[in-house]
Amino acid sequence: MSLTSKTLDIIKHFEFKFNKNLGQNFLIDENILNKIIDGAELDHDDCALEIGPGIGTLTQAMAKRCKRVIAIEIDDSLIDILNETLGNYENIKIIHGDALKMDFKKLIEDEGLDNVKIVANLPYYLTTPFITNILSQKTNIKSLTLMIQKEVADRITAKCGSSDYSSLSLLCTYFCDIHKIARVSKNCFIPKPKVESAVIRMDVKKEPSIKVIDEDLLFRVIRFAFNMRRKTLWNALKPLGLGEDKLKCAFEKSGIDPVRRGETLSLEEFGRLSDEIKGLI
Ligand code: SAM
Repeated sequence: MSLTSKTLDIIKHFEFKFNKNLGQNFLIDENILNKIIDGAELDHDDCALEIGPGIGTLTQAMAKRCKRVIAIEIDDSLIDILNETLGNYENIKIIHGDALKMDFKKLIEDEGLDNVKIVANLPYYLTTPFITNILSQKTNIKSLTLMIQKEVADRITAKCGSSDYSSLSLLCTYFCDIHKIARVSKNCFIPKPKVESAVIRMDVKKEPSIKVIDEDLLFRVIRFAFNMRRKTLWNALKPLGLGEDKLKCAFEKSGIDPVRRGETLSLEEFGRLSDEIKGLI
């Protein structure tokens, strides 16, 4: 039976109603399913952490490849379905909860997970807050293999100077090595989403790409620079509240021209600038 027929059968059997607000677009393409599993490079020693298992399609496929799968699902009405569709798998645990409110460090510790890889077909609304949240939590996860909106994948993989380059590109590059895995058509889901998708894998580095004195300040400077990306750095960073003399001094010491725009600065340059600002506050 095809994945589409299996999915439609389950939906009909349980009289499941899609909740648009939860970004419920279920994957029905076997080929893409395999690309996600292969792209995640799961092996027998790994524990997969899935966000939003839906009816458990990806969850089952992962359980056949790795030691354990922990899946976090927010929708009450999917919990009964998952308990039935995944009932035969002893290595799967479903957690009913909100992935955005989850303390992943505690979860990994409580469950005694090692070699943790996050794999998910993320609801679109969750993508940026989830990635920001999980990377900032500094867990020991090895990688994140994510199906996300193509537009967001383009932002994550964007190079300095391009129109897609953003604070998200810099955050992901700071913590991870990023690999593009696949482009995914709207036709691979039910219901069909409005936008195209893409699968990427982000391998979390043992140490961030650059060393800075104050990581929080680095991301504050980046956020301010991109909040007003049309403005010069001078104007965009004035609201940091450093005062004009000190700001001028930070630009001079870091060798960065204040009339440049944030989108032209590499991660290393942002690091240099934030270190100089740190030295003045
Ligand atoms: N993994 C399934 C698949 O590939 O067919 C479903 C993916 S669907 C795009 C997103 C899933 O995330 C849905 O099951 C939805 O209910 C769930 N979800 C939405 N918001 C969530 C949240 N904050 N925490 C956990 N799960 C969430």
